Amino acid sequence: MKIMLVDDSRTIRNIQKNVLKQIGHTDLIEAEDGVVALGLFQKEVPDLMLVDWNMPNMDGITLIRKIRETNKTVPIIMCTTEAEKSRILEAIKAGVNNYIVKPFSVESLQEKIEQTMAKIGAA
Ligand SMILES: [Mg+2]
Repeated sequence: MKIMLVDDSRTIRNIQKNVLKQIGHTDLIEAEDGVVALGLFQKEVPDLMLVDWNMPNMDGITLIRKIRETNKTVPIIMCTTEAEKSRILEAIKAGVNNYIVKPFSVESLQEKIEQTMAKIGAA
């Protein structure tokens, strides 16, 4: 399963990578902003995306809206410090499948990924 990590913080991406490796995911690609992510996405659609909200050049919510214009199915988990209900609702409206607030534990990220993939499988 190819997972794309989109976050402007290298440290966060490294944490995500370590967590994902611990739970058996090694096919990972990284993008530091929405522009880079969209370029990679247009070359190859991943099986899952973890997307940060606040990034330079193109933020996560804009990226998700752009992706959803052409692709309604790729599973997207928003992974952000934005924890307000209004933000979460905005992200859901934009088409995210799940939402996780940073900082997250290994267990919570694993759970969100399993939840997300199970829902897709059931759809
Ligand atoms: Mg950020």
